[in-house]
Amino acid sequence: MINTERWNITSNSDERKTVIEEAVAVLKAGNTVAFPTETVYGLGADATNEIAVAKIFKAKGRPQDNPLIAHVATKDQLKQLTTTYPQYVDKLIDHFAPGPITFVLPSNGVCAKNVTAGLDTVGIRIPNHPVAQHLLQQANLPLAAPSANLSGKPSPTTADHVWDDLNGKIAGLLDDGPTGVGVESTVVDCTGEVPMILRPGGVTKEQLEEVVGKLAQDSAIVDKLDKPKSPGMKYRHYSPELPLLLVEGDTAYMQKQINLKRETYGRVGVLASNRMAKQLTADEIIPLGDHINDIASHLYDGLRTFKQGHVNIILCEAFEKKEIGVAVMNRLEKAASSYLKEK
Ligand code: AMP
Ligand code: MG
Repeated sequence: MINTERWNITSNSDERKTVIEEAVAVLKAGNTVAFPTETVYGLGADATNEIAVAKIFKAKGRPQDNPLIAHVATKDQLKQLTTTYPQYVDKLIDHFAPGPITFVLPSNGVCAKNVTAGLDTVGIRIPNHPVAQHLLQQANLPLAAPSANLSGKPSPTTADHVWDDLNGKIAGLLDDGPTGVGVESTVVDCTGEVPMILRPGGVTKEQLEEVVGKLAQDSAIVDKLDKPKSPGMKYRHYSPELPLLLVEGDTAYMQKQINLKRETYGRVGVLASNRMAKQLTADEIIPLGDHINDIASHLYDGLRTFKQGHVNIILCEAFEKKEIGVAVMNRLEKAASSYLKEK
């Protein structure tokens, strides 16, 4: 066990400055600090320090072959971690960074080799959350930062989620309340002739296409039998404590499934849009919102709320695979043990 310092980010700018300085000192000493980004909380360490980066893998229980994303404050700092890259990358950076998008670029070896898990590419992101930006600017270091959860659990969208998973395993936690987007960044391989989406996320395919036109997508995103090109995508992720079933159909079909599962499992929990949730009867119902952006934002908190003992199974509405719904459904399909569809 190590002592985990928990700092509150307040609206007072002097207090904020002091807290960020303390966190930077911890990072510069080669230790880990969790911090908010606009997607989910990240667990940061100095990306140029192999020993510091190893502490991230240990705290999370993350498989060694799953590379980390290096976070930087500016485009200039991004360029310090890579070599030459295709022209379309400048277009993507100028349109979407800072923001929920990760660029996989040729690595120049500045990041420690455990950041890239031995690959010759490095994933780089410029987050736009004010606390992440402040921390990165003050540290003036690239920070390797995967999601700040135990590997396999849903990503943390509040400081309490981080605390539940990593208290005693990390050196610090900057608490700035809930994050906004709620699902992780879009990972885009930028080493080929056209960009290729490896993981759907906060920036949608439609938005990317508007800027660069032609775009590829890892076939494994659509066909679960294909081997994913991003090492992290092969793991079963985002799993709640309980079995999760995805249900595609109208409200009557969902209610029928709830009633059936009650016979076998006893208590049933449900995650659904507000519209559907208010018409259902179950043991515990968590409405996630109506707009798909709200659903994305509340999804991981919803998955984490259901605890063993309260309910014995979770049924979740299947959402339309449009805009950020593609990322939401990608995560839900990985978390779910089966998918029930109305004929
Ligand atoms: P996390 O930060 O936990 O959300 O995970 C980062 C995701 O980015 C994982 O799916 C990684 O496999 C992926 N990733 C990071 N670096 C690379 C890279 N160089 N090439 C391909 N995928 C990467
Ligand atoms: Mg993760």
